[in-house]
Amino acid sequence: MKLSPIRYAAPTTVEEAITLLTSCDAKIMSGGQSLMPIMAFRLATPELIVDLKKIQGLDKIVIDDEGLHLGAKVKWHDIETDQRLETAHPLLAEAIKHVAHYQIRNRGTVGGSVAHADPASEMPAVAACCDAVISVIGTQGARKIKAADFFLSALQTSLEPDEIIVEILLPSWPAARRWGFQEFARRRGDFALAGIAAYFDLDSEGRASNTHIAVFGASDRQHRLGGAETALNGKLPTADAIAAAARAAAAEVDPPSDIHAPADYRRALVETLTGRALAHAAQ
Ligand SMILES: Cc1cc2nc3c(=O)[nH]c(=O)nc-3n(C[C@H](O)[C@H](O)[C@H](O)COP(=O)(O)OP(=O)(O)OC[C@H]3O[C@@H](n4cnc5c(N)ncnc54)[C@H](O)[C@@H]3O)c2cc1C
Repeated sequence: MKLSPIRYAAPTTVEEAITLLTSCDAKIMSGGQSLMPIMAFRLATPELIVDLKKIQGLDKIVIDDEGLHLGAKVKWHDIETDQRLETAHPLLAEAIKHVAHYQIRNRGTVGGSVAHADPASEMPAVAACCDAVISVIGTQGARKIKAADFFLSALQTSLEPDEIIVEILLPSWPAARRWGFQEFARRRGDFALAGIAAYFDLDSEGRASNTHIAVFGASDRQHRLGGAETALNGKLPTADAIAAAARAAAAEVDPPSDIHAPADYRRALVETLTGRALAHAAQ
């Protein structure tokens, strides 16, 4: 379908963009890869599109003592071509390989993905798994939102209508950290039917600690699986311990049934994918 008539603005500062957002029924556009299809289907009918493309400084990838700072306009392609991330954040580097197709990866952005909050998206899964901090600016000023407080349910976040995401911080990543990322999609690049992002550290006796496991595609949002994490923490990451954590993960999710897969199938995927992700981490 063609888009309904719409006005368009491309401000040059975040402040100007916020003013435009509050002026009428307006929507931010970043890469447009989710917004445009939604508008074409008339699921969103804003009066004004506020395109972020002329705002400078939101497309940087910075690594410092705090961790990995991703500007909201960083594209999937920027991540996959930044060799530093293979060591600075291997979980993110692996996850992004599964996002969409070449053309979409050239335009889609991390800020757009996090704001859109599709429950099957990879970037929000990494954000949830790693306890990311999402920096936003709105008419009330700047605030930082923890990932656990940001993703509320499918396509719902705690972002206010006048707020713009400017940065996503993934806390620093120790070199020795063990990680795994697994998803199942019918074709590479499709949205996942289910997926798991996971990591743990090893203590001096080789036991798992600080285990983080996040689910996507099999819940109403990306979130950590506390029961599965507890099942592994303090244990040697043996096949038995991993299997127990995987069973706990499956018991913790309440997946939807839809035209793509029934709930039981998705729950079975969560168990299998958790087992594989943790086994990869343990290797
Ligand atoms: C065929 C197809 C397949 C895809 N497959 C996948 C996939 O496998 N995995 C995956 O993760 N994604 C997938 N996507 C989605 C793609 O990655 C999108 O690019 C991404 O979800 C949204 O990013 P965007 O920059 O295009 O956002 P836009 O489409 O520009 O915006 C999306 C939403 O976020 C809001 N928004 C954008 N930027 C900001 C900001 N800085 N602050 C506040 N709100 C903002 C917009 O107002 C809009 O509501 C697919 C898309 C298509 C079309």
